[in-house]
Amino acid sequence: MAAATPLRRVLSCVILDLDGTLLNTDGIVGDVLKMLPVKYGKQWDAKVTHRIVGKTPIEAATAIKEVMSFRARLMSSCQKLPQCFLNGWKESFSAIVGGDEVMQKPSPEIFLEAAKLLNAEPSSCLVIEDSLPDVGGAKAAGMEVVAVPSLPKSSHLYTSADEVINSLLDLRPEIWGLPPFQDWINGTLPIEPWYIGGPVIKGYGRGSKVLGIPTANLSTEGWSDILSYHPSGVYFGWAGLSTRGVYKMVMSIGWNPYFNNTEKTIEPWLLHDFNEDFNGEKLHLAIVGYIRPEASFSSLESLISKIHEDGKISKEALDLPPYAAYKDVPYVKNPLTAE
Ligand SMILES: [Mg+2]
Repeated sequence: MAAATPLRRVLSCVILDLDGTLLNTDGIVGDVLKMLPVKYGKQWDAKVTHRIVGKTPIEAATAIKEVMSFRARLMSSCQKLPQCFLNGWKESFSAIVGGDEVMQKPSPEIFLEAAKLLNAEPSSCLVIEDSLPDVGGAKAAGMEVVAVPSLPKSSHLYTSADEVINSLLDLRPEIWGLPPFQDWINGTLPIEPWYIGGPVIKGYGRGSKVLGIPTANLSTEGWSDILSYHPSGVYFGWAGLSTRGVYKMVMSIGWNPYFNNTEKTIEPWLLHDFNEDFNGEKLHLAIVGYIRPEASFSSLESLISKIHEDGKISKEALDLPPYAAYKDVPYVKNPLTAE
């Protein structure tokens, strides 16, 4: 991740991109468009994915046609977001500019128009964007830009952004002279709890052998949707083992940059000394809080010390009111009976 540059300007406005940044509409459009080449006898080509980020559905379909060389007649039948997306949202914003109200993106115009509506100088605006071309557009508008790439492992491409973060969970407005978020507690961020479980499987073996940290790995089979929804990073919560009880737990989700995994995995570490392993035992997790994004470490020692620090933060946080009550939810307490 690129580090944020020191504060250079007094910022007063934040301009947020919608598609791919606030809403995962790119993922929905992508899923629909993946069916298009199949209809014309072609296999989906993963390299197209980069070409459709930040594009409208009709632009994305056109790009797919070009890259994969097939002929199809494209019609745009849905021009506007369904109203349900916007119910209650509009009131949170001082102004909204549609991509169809200005020159075709990527261009600085949409950002300049937003600044005009906010009655702000472009230099006092911070833009939060996911697509590479639009990061360029915002920079051309003379604004500071935080990039939140929607495609994994692409942050190195965003060299023009002032800061690159892994997900909106990592946005720190105070870096930009803006008021900080109020919901962080002792280095942790409460999240809407989510649940995942299954039998413990043998992992890569490195948890206990290389790191001295025995992780209880879960198969991610059947959970790919829920995992793709949650950004990679370090989380914590409660872990129920079917024959042993409920334990505090810290876990990473992601590709684990130090080991350069190729699949998104979860690696929960139960914060308790067990005398024997529990492969095959049923494990249910309630994930209740977030600590930090994944990071690359220069040495194994620095990785191990960071994991221990994560464990300490989690242990202390889980006794706090926002997190403590989830210890008693039936899904965690009774892994054999609760689904
Ligand atoms: Mg976008």
